[in-house]
Amino acid sequence: MSEEHLQFGTQALHAGYDREFVARASSTPIYQSAAFDMVSVERGDRLSSGEEQGFSYSRVANPTVDTLERRLAQLEGGIGAVATASGMAAISFALLAAAEGGGHIVSAAELYGASVDAMETFFPQFGIETTFVDDINDLAAVEQAIQPNTRAIFAETVANPSTVVTDIASLAKLAHRHGIPLIIDNTVPTPYLCRPIELGADVVVHSTTKGITGHGNALGGIVIDSGNFDWAAGKHPQFTQEELVVSDEEHGVWHSFASAFGKEAYIRRVRIKYLRTFGAVPSPFNAYLQLIGLETIVQRVRQQVQSATRIAQYLQHHSHVRQLNYSGIGTTGQTDLVHTMLPKGVGQVLSFTFDGTAEQMNRFINATTVFSYIPNIGDSKSLIVNPAKITHREVPRRLREVAGVSDNLIRLSIGLEDADDLIADLEQAFAVAFG
Ligand SMILES: *Cc1c(COP(=O)(O)O)cnc(C)c1O
Repeated sequence: MSEEHLQFGTQALHAGYDREFVARASSTPIYQSAAFDMVSVERGDRLSSGEEQGFSYSRVANPTVDTLERRLAQLEGGIGAVATASGMAAISFALLAAAEGGGHIVSAAELYGASVDAMETFFPQFGIETTFVDDINDLAAVEQAIQPNTRAIFAETVANPSTVVTDIASLAKLAHRHGIPLIIDNTVPTPYLCRPIELGADVVVHSTTKGITGHGNALGGIVIDSGNFDWAAGKHPQFTQEELVVSDEEHGVWHSFASAFGKEAYIRRVRIKYLRTFGAVPSPFNAYLQLIGLETIVQRVRQQVQSATRIAQYLQHHSHVRQLNYSGIGTTGQTDLVHTMLPKGVGQVLSFTFDGTAEQMNRFINATTVFSYIPNIGDSKSLIVNPAKITHREVPRRLREVAGVSDNLIRLSIGLEDADDLIADLEQAFAVAFG
């Protein structure tokens, strides 16, 4: 069944699911099997070389996980996807697959803390350097950071916790002028609010732990390939070098990922080299929870945006709030960009600088009862956290300041509770903090 003509909300329930294959089950079965019968030696050979995409061993592919991959590829408008055990695995695989072999990355400085730490302190151990650009929308600065060995540009659609929006279309144009792919972390808005591939992004990654799963009950990540970038054009020799794993040594037939898979070279390399080697596969059960979560993504995210907007408006002029950050109501001065790029809203994350002492801020966080003190976002329950001490702890102070993560910043992730209860909870917590 072709699903491309269906609306997003319909695809969220049906895309990538082959009912014939699963005894017409309404809910995707959990294929709790480590391995699968290859049936014949001939088919085993085709499966092992990637010539046939099927199931032999769950570190490479599993039917439950496959449904999730197909569904998210469809929802993001990509040609293929690889699901991983967490968002960090997806980000690591996506960036390393582009920059492996001594490449250089140009990245936004405003990023998820562990992404900054990976590029700042860990990838250099593997010979991959990153230049962080303070303002990713300053295209002159981005262009200046590009080197002959730059293999990828990386940014988040909506930065967490500042909610600053990356102008993906302009950044993609610049990247492509230099023959470089644009990789976008689309975790905060989810594909319901923004589809970066339509704006020119070449690869989209997610922590599916967040808004996609939506209930705080499973970790996951995904790499989605647009199929639009030409990885054989010259800047990425790993795609044109011959590789035994996709070749037939016995018969002297040699292939590179580009010659074997064409437009799918990148996503096949992520699966056949990265997933197969590092093994960060999601369990079938976690993939199942993510598929269930996806079924209500439209309804959840829509309500969360509505509540987040109300709460942002309540906080914006509050006497104990120094500065509110929610680009959805214009606090980042990006009204036109938000309107064209994210017309349905920027997501459920917002943040504010608390106007009080450290002790008062601790009292405020401890006093909330509807909000939970949890380092996560996109949950159906509302969450509160102090990023400087928790989520951005490993980020050097300079980059933390660029990301607007001051010591008195508080981040909220708005869930599905009644907005009145959430506002009342914040109000009583302010009273406790300053009482
Ligand atoms: C949470 C998050 C990640 C990391 O994902 P995990 O699933 O926790 O590994 C990456 N990017 C963003 C924007 C996130 O919010």
